[in-house]
Amino acid sequence: MNNYYNEQTIIYLNGDFIRAAEAKMDFYSQSLHYGYSVFEGIRSYQTTNGSTRIFKPVEHFDRLRQSALAINMPYHWDTQELIDITYEVLTRNQLGDAYIRPVVYAPANMSFAPNDQSFLVIQAWQMAPFLGEKLLRVRTSSFQRPNPRAFHIHAKAAGHYVNSIVASQEARTNGYDEALLLDMNGSVAEAPGANVFIEKNGCLFTPPAGHILSGITRATVLELAANLAIPVQEKYFTIEEMYDADAAFFCGTAVEVIGLGSLDDRRFSLIWENSKSHQIQKAYKQLVTQPAA
Ligand code: PMP
Repeated sequence: MNNYYNEQTIIYLNGDFIRAAEAKMDFYSQSLHYGYSVFEGIRSYQTTNGSTRIFKPVEHFDRLRQSALAINMPYHWDTQELIDITYEVLTRNQLGDAYIRPVVYAPANMSFAPNDQSFLVIQAWQMAPFLGEKLLRVRTSSFQRPNPRAFHIHAKAAGHYVNSIVASQEARTNGYDEALLLDMNGSVAEAPGANVFIEKNGCLFTPPAGHILSGITRATVLELAANLAIPVQEKYFTIEEMYDADAAFFCGTAVEVIGLGSLDDRRFSLIWENSKSHQIQKAYKQLVTQPAA
């Protein structure tokens, strides 16, 4: 049928666990027509003792609430309640390593008026950890990230992702693995669905919050760098500074920590395995597969 569900798959939809194949959604939903919904991308991992653990679920469900409130969607769910429901979705689908996708969406409404209720679906599908040695070939996008005064860019709202889709498709159409987007001022911002770090002389640099979705993985990388005594600085940098970096990586829930082999066909000077960035990648892998304390 597709890579996400089959006849047996169970999802959580507005209070019930039901079959994905039988789930219905209103085609008059404001979310479908205008991209007016918010969502999360969460991972669960089978840990080293065999148990399944959702990585940073509080952070993700708290962000879901913040995203909904930022764009004026009613939100009445409790984070712990949603974590419990998500574990139940994993159990019912016998999933260990999985990608979890909650979406908060709007009722039928063809106007731009606010709604007095929102709906919630939680879907999950198998996703093996990657954390691999593949290095990405990246191309600077002709699309910029949206002006933060045009959107609440810290909100993970569906409509914002049209920008991500066109940028990613442009890179792939031209034979690259992924795009890198600049902000409206010409500084490096982020990838379509991931944050970016560069490494220079043993230091890591990443753009500050402001023109990016400042990710939960990015925050994790900052913690890991502190633990590993790798200096890291949040600052704006240009594409030329990035060409001149020793190494670079993207990080996000879906891509985890993944190195860049080249940017606009310019290779990075360090062998990936010799970089501090690679140490971060290894530490991230260890962290996400660690059993709950
Ligand atoms: N930037 C964008 C635009 C994203 O879509 C994502 C993925 N949510 C990220 C950064 C990384 O965020 P996180 O680490 O929270 O997954």
